[in-house]
Amino acid sequence: MSTRFIFITGGVVSSLGKGLGSAALGALLQARGYTVRLCKLDPYLNVDPGTMSPFQHGEVFVTDDGAETDLDLGHYERFTGVPATKSDNITTGRIYLNVLNKERRGDYLGATIQVIPHITNEIKDFIAEKEGSADFVLCEIGGTVGDIESLPFLEAIRQFGNEIGTRQALFLHVTLLPYIPAAGELKTKPTQHSVKELMSAGIRPKILLCRADREIEEDEIRKIGLFCNIDEKKVIPALDAKSIYDVPLTYHEEGLDTQVLDYFDLEGKQELDLTTWKNISKRIHQPEHDVTIAVVGKYTNLADSYKSLNEALTHGGIANNAKVNIKFVEASIFDNSTDEIVSELEGVNGILVPGGFGERGAEGKIKAAQFAREKKVPYFGICFGLQMAVLEAARNLAGIKDASSTEFGEEGTHLIGLMTEWVKGNKSEKRSSTEDLGGTMRLGAYPASLEKGSKVAEIYGSTSISERHRHRYEVNVNYKDQLEEAGFFFSGLSPDGKLPEICERRDHPWFIGVQYHPELKSKPFDPHPLFVSFIKAAIEQSKLV
Ligand code: GLN
Repeated sequence: MSTRFIFITGGVVSSLGKGLGSAALGALLQARGYTVRLCKLDPYLNVDPGTMSPFQHGEVFVTDDGAETDLDLGHYERFTGVPATKSDNITTGRIYLNVLNKERRGDYLGATIQVIPHITNEIKDFIAEKEGSADFVLCEIGGTVGDIESLPFLEAIRQFGNEIGTRQALFLHVTLLPYIPAAGELKTKPTQHSVKELMSAGIRPKILLCRADREIEEDEIRKIGLFCNIDEKKVIPALDAKSIYDVPLTYHEEGLDTQVLDYFDLEGKQELDLTTWKNISKRIHQPEHDVTIAVVGKYTNLADSYKSLNEALTHGGIANNAKVNIKFVEASIFDNSTDEIVSELEGVNGILVPGGFGERGAEGKIKAAQFAREKKVPYFGICFGLQMAVLEAARNLAGIKDASSTEFGEEGTHLIGLMTEWVKGNKSEKRSSTEDLGGTMRLGAYPASLEKGSKVAEIYGSTSISERHRHRYEVNVNYKDQLEEAGFFFSGLSPDGKLPEICERRDHPWFIGVQYHPELKSKPFDPHPLFVSFIKAAIEQSKLV
């Protein structure tokens, strides 16, 4: 069938869960036998989110092909299993960069470059190139309708919708019905205004997904339908869910997928199959075990900065029938003192040091690794968390007292350093230490060879793997022998043997550090084996205390 396009916009306020809604709709269409592809258009001026602070924008989601993208792409991948790619996320910054590069090259043959048509055409090209790649292409427009930044995107999707014809494109608008306690009711006015705003951009939404924290009365649905000129059945309540993995089920119950197919005049390709989601939901709500994992990090005051990590821990819990409680611990509180470590980490069933950048909090993370090693608490070091475990072993076991990372400055012996050349496939890749911040990282999927008989080889059930990377520094392989003598085994290396990818301790129930980000590939229906194994170890640990 020809590709149908669904454009998802948001109104009233931000953080409505548009990304999640899009991802859940993708999953529902798959459950009806269709193929889907999801993409996100972001109205900010950064060329990509790679340089944005996780405090402000949440995590950066990295794709196999090495793009640093919006965290919503993580939701898309977790809900649909379709791996996101570089060409699934674009920002205003990137669009302008493309247009300006073309202008400099003289591609526009002397024309005056304008927002309409040049910027809008660039946006339309980004959308149009997805034609034929799936039965449904879902495009989420970041931001809120009414923002100045969104205007070119709205204009582009309006034009695109007109060009491909009404029953080929659907505009779905996500809004909020706020509850006003004094009136004791949900208010529809902001939704009416938001639809009006969208209409003034020439877009008439055909489905409304109404977010609310309580049940929406029939009367209110009728009112919204009437005022917004939308078929009542297509005004869909989207109430807060206990778990994000309930969302496909609850949106289905409210008729979302049925109404989408109805709009396109399509039937399901197969009988609806929601077994996977029902099983996931059941495991989440009826766990047999309960474990607490301390995440010792830096961006701990914004849950979104560790989005994929939190989800991957939940997935590990789903696989083990366990509820995973995450205790965020600010690493810098351990920097100058050891007392707090005991009070913060005593009693947790696992310690995870996630990815991170910069020196602040590093000493605290090293101490957390030491605590885990000495007290035999399961330890999972991810990227920076591996690097800090290396420094801990070097300083406290291998006698390299001043072991440090190039990231922290000139001083000390650099066990973690900048590599400027490595091999990917049969190609050599180079980076320079003087390049722009955006261009100096090892990004995307790289293969690794695991040592036969190692714990990680057993966990993966394989000795060759591929995982996603996002880091600037590497553990220096020249220290391998010295660290292995101290019990710190290099059980995974890049296929050419130059870059350490995984280290593990054999004298410990579960102590694994990885240079890559396994959390990016974990899905509720296909949990990452390392997270499954880590949570299993945490459950074992919980039986000891
Ligand atoms: N800051 C470290 C590096 O650049 C680790 C990065 C990370 O944890 N993603 O190598």
